[in-house]
Amino acid sequence: MSKKITIAIDGFSSTGKSTLAKQLAKKLGYVYVDTGAMYRAVALFAMQNGYISLDFFDKETLINSLPFIKLEFKFNPDLGFAEMYLNETNVETEIRTIEVSNFVSKVAEISEVRAKLVEQQQKMGKNKGIVMDGRDIGTVVFPDAELKIFMTAGADTRAQRRFDELQEKGDPVTYEEVLKNVEERDYIDTNREDSPLVMADDAIEIDNSYLTKQEQFDAVLELVNDVTNPL
Ligand code: C5P
Repeated sequence: MSKKITIAIDGFSSTGKSTLAKQLAKKLGYVYVDTGAMYRAVALFAMQNGYISLDFFDKETLINSLPFIKLEFKFNPDLGFAEMYLNETNVETEIRTIEVSNFVSKVAEISEVRAKLVEQQQKMGKNKGIVMDGRDIGTVVFPDAELKIFMTAGADTRAQRRFDELQEKGDPVTYEEVLKNVEERDYIDTNREDSPLVMADDAIEIDNSYLTKQEQFDAVLELVNDVTNPL
């Protein structure tokens, strides 16, 4: 049997990280962890409690509330992936709205939030056999991951993909709103002080602007095989 490894997938918003990660986890029998969902759940908590709004952010109170935020992934066999639970409530749908997307990067800038989530992520990956996607997986969470992928695609392509997804779910957003959100998050995620989005030196970059999901999956699977079954 091939050895189990850690696969870190980082990149900009809406580059299809989770699609690739889910495909890999299914094929390899690995655990898939969507770390963006964790940051989104903390943002949802802050919104629900009135700690963040368009012109207001009470970071101090959010930081003090961190011990009362319980995040869990529970596998849903019907969907084939794990859903996000915030304090025992399934929030998988709520965390994907444009409102949460508009606040999440501000919440993800806070070092205390990052420290709590990174600790939990490292525990989830201690036995390897994991595919984790996010912004800092190959640089901060698992700097020793055996395979690191960094995904990119043009902002227009990414916004169109996210727009199609949200429309399919019946979310009444405009394309311009989604593009603005994608660009704003890219900016905050790349420029924040703590764990900014950068490509790890040993990551392999994949620009999937013109790749189909299948082509991308096949290419990465080959990389996995190179690592797990070296000649
Ligand atoms: O991956 P997703 O787009 O759902 O992530 C939502 C946001 O969470 C990102 O824009 C980023 O601000 C934050 N995030 C992060 N570090 C991660 C994963 C997500 O800062 N590892």
